[in-house]
Amino acid sequence: MSHRSGFITILIAACVLSYSCSQRKKEEPPMHEQKNNVSIDSKNDLLPWLDSLERRYELACIQMGTANWNSYSKEAPYDLDAAKAALGKIFLDSAVRGMLDEWLRRSPSLADKPLARRLEMWHRCFIGGAIYADPDIAKRENALQQIITNFQRKLDDKPVTRAEISNLIRQERRQARRQKLWSVESQVSAVAAESLIALVKLRNEKARAFGFPNYYSLVLHLQAIDEQWLLKTLDSLEKQTHEAFASFIATSSRKLHVSEVGPWDFEYALREAVSLPDKYFLSDSVFEILHRFQKGIGFNVDSLSIKEVVKDIPYGGLSLAVNIPSDSRFLVNPTKGKGFYATAFHEYGHSLKAVHTHVEYPILKGYEWIPGAQCAAYEEGVAEMHGEFTDDSLWLATFTNAKPKQIEKYMKGRGLPTLYRLRRLLKDFAIEYAMYKDPNQDMRKVEYEMYERYLLIDLPDSEPHQFAASIWYTSYPCYYQNYILAAMIATQIQEALTNKFGETKSTNHELADFMIKYLYETGEKLEWIERIRNATGKSLEPGAYLRKLGIERSRLLTKE
Ligand SMILES: [Zn+2]
Repeated sequence: MSHRSGFITILIAACVLSYSCSQRKKEEPPMHEQKNNVSIDSKNDLLPWLDSLERRYELACIQMGTANWNSYSKEAPYDLDAAKAALGKIFLDSAVRGMLDEWLRRSPSLADKPLARRLEMWHRCFIGGAIYADPDIAKRENALQQIITNFQRKLDDKPVTRAEISNLIRQERRQARRQKLWSVESQVSAVAAESLIALVKLRNEKARAFGFPNYYSLVLHLQAIDEQWLLKTLDSLEKQTHEAFASFIATSSRKLHVSEVGPWDFEYALREAVSLPDKYFLSDSVFEILHRFQKGIGFNVDSLSIKEVVKDIPYGGLSLAVNIPSDSRFLVNPTKGKGFYATAFHEYGHSLKAVHTHVEYPILKGYEWIPGAQCAAYEEGVAEMHGEFTDDSLWLATFTNAKPKQIEKYMKGRGLPTLYRLRRLLKDFAIEYAMYKDPNQDMRKVEYEMYERYLLIDLPDSEPHQFAASIWYTSYPCYYQNYILAAMIATQIQEALTNKFGETKSTNHELADFMIKYLYETGEKLEWIERIRNATGKSLEPGAYLRKLGIERSRLLTKE
């Protein structure tokens, strides 16, 4: 895909895969004997014991990272199941969990900040790890994933793939035919809906066992995302983009000569979205330009332990922090144009963070495997901060031969696809969030409501539901907000860089120190929210993202 909005979907999808592929085939929990006699009476005994637990945890993470790397790079044989079992085993020991929780309760009296933070992170990881290693969830998840991935879609009684549909719908001139193409997904939803709802109920049940009202709340808690803040933020994004989206619909209706715009019309309406020509982003030069740029902003590119591999993989790119900070690797798919550059920059951003994390304790290094050990939205956001450079007019003027007029035109035109993508993400989030709140409600009705609220579309009653067709709800649950938060994080940091470095933003060698100090080196010693605040001088908010969308917030000047 040549356009950025499509590109982000792909690259974050890839990172999601690396983040949660460990969830794909969950093994039965190992039937190992638990040490039930763990008892530690003093802080002096606790520290060496915790150190050794963390060494074991880190070795398991390294094993997992290596197996994952080899599964994609095919550099060496690998055993993903064994790696997952070794990691999962750590989190099935309820005696250890009970003791760590007991020490967490006592931690306010210990007056030891790093220790308190380690105990807090272990507490989260024991919840995340229990879900990670849960055989019931894994079984249902895998079964439903099989149903969805193996499903044979049909169009006019002939087999058709999802990719074919998405290509056709972009080009089809007749609206009725576009609607027919769009409706194909409901075939998948029809066979998956019942199992998805059952899976949602099971996840909720497990979450309630940990004291959460539902699974969505648990997932947000593990990543330190405040649920009320999130809802408020997404609501504000909806309100502030409402008018612009309504006007896009009105324009599309005129342009496409249709009396009523449907969801099947969006891709067609956006088919001519502005993009910069591929010739300004030669594939052969990607690493040369990437290195030149990163050196320019102050990174010691030549001495960093980052391994780069170009290889045909099913995603745009994939980055793995195998051993933090001494071994980080990434793969990029040899695609074309600006999207290829943005992916390489994004993946390199992941690696830069890994090799500049300076934390003594493994549980605070932010390994990606166990839910709760990092915040995915933050990880994606600070990686995307690097991807964002390829979308910055100054960067484009400095590092490509694109003409000023082309850059200007691109800057003006990129808003609409991004706006549509945001509204769609809001819709996808809202459906899933409502589903976990009450899996017994009429989900077809919920889906209709969300189409109306976020895409401003009145679906005809004859359209069956589609919500269960999405593989995301099955395999990467409760993830949609991360796309939005990551975009907010990337744009807010970029804006802070502009404020601090001005015209030299793409070339000032002090940028690296800034990124290392505020965004990388502390790892999970600090909550991600604090890292954003330290780097940008304010809490995460939608302003910068809205400004990138071309939507000015006049309220900003008077209120807030
Ligand atoms: Zn990523």
